[in-house]
Amino acid sequence: MSFQSLNIIDPLSRAIAKEGYTKPTPIQMQAIPYLLEGKDLMGIAQTGTGKTAAFVLPILQRMAAEIKAVMPGSPRVLVLAPTRELAAQIDHSFATYGQFLRFKHTAIFGGVSQVPQVRILSRGVDILVATPGRLLDLMNQGIIKLKSVEYFVLDEMDRMLDMGFVKDMRKIVSALPQKRQSLFFSATPNRQTDEFACKLLDNAVRVDAGPQESALDRIDQSVFFVDQVNKDRLLQDLFQKSDMSRVLVFTRTKRRADRVWKAVARAGHKTARIHADRTQGQRRMALDGFKDGTYRVLVATDIAARGIDVAEIGHVVNFDLPHVAEDYVHRVGRTARAEATGRASAFSSPEETSLLRDIEKLT
Ligand code: AMP
Repeated sequence: MSFQSLNIIDPLSRAIAKEGYTKPTPIQMQAIPYLLEGKDLMGIAQTGTGKTAAFVLPILQRMAAEIKAVMPGSPRVLVLAPTRELAAQIDHSFATYGQFLRFKHTAIFGGVSQVPQVRILSRGVDILVATPGRLLDLMNQGIIKLKSVEYFVLDEMDRMLDMGFVKDMRKIVSALPQKRQSLFFSATPNRQTDEFACKLLDNAVRVDAGPQESALDRIDQSVFFVDQVNKDRLLQDLFQKSDMSRVLVFTRTKRRADRVWKAVARAGHKTARIHADRTQGQRRMALDGFKDGTYRVLVATDIAARGIDVAEIGHVVNFDLPHVAEDYVHRVGRTARAEATGRASAFSSPEETSLLRDIEKLT
């Protein structure tokens, strides 16, 4: 199947071609026809499957069919995302795919001053990508109104519920107009996501991109059995022996991320770190440096790394195994993006054997 057969309008086709995409990914193939018809959707897809384009393209196409004047603080599209990084990335996708259209878009999130965000909002945007906290904050200040929202997207709703945003999400939803198109995406559906979707979606189609298997299939995965105290040395060995270029290392806690980051730096490798205690500016610099090759190694905790889209991450190292088996899939999904293949190494200490078993069961 090609993008042509999805009846994508010319300005979007040109943007897609410019990105070098030749054919739609499975989630795009399945979701786009329904979304162009205006249907609500529950999409099961993780980052790396092309899910962002799967909702950004049809939304832009439907908006382009009905141009409206922008109103201050009153967007037509609201996308909610769990983290700042993901929000910024989705906003960037609207810019990329919408480069031949003329919609105004922005992302808002906490941890930075609201002043520039408010300035952009007061000039008016068509598309608003937001994390729940900052959005509610600006709604309470009367700066944002949701009464004109026609398209509502919840991205990574499983993670958003995990992070305890359920109350915030309810408040936000209650400010939306009844008549709207709603699109929910979740990597791993569970009872909570199903309940939430059931209440809020209207006659929705469910598409399952079955990403777990296909993405994991393209990843060369291995496990090293190692004592906790020898993990640092093993990591150094890996760096010495292989030609790893962009390596993403996951630890379980912020403190351990700091510790591993220090050890890697001491061994002479260019490295950066991201976790919840790092400021927005520090995270941005770490990510940019990792993207442009300044840093060879990025050390991260799960939440900070969620949704990160850096092309060509060749290797993911699970320095600690995650407590939740699904997080393993999210972690190794950072490599082997789109069509590429990647490698993933897991360090399993004797204390982590039961976690390893959970992961094996899941995958
Ligand atoms: P996502 O799952 O939305 O985070 O997208 C993962 C990556 O796939 C991003 O780097 C996109 O630029 C890329 N991508 C999205 N759609 C396609 C496509 N049809 N062909 C090739 N790459 C794509």
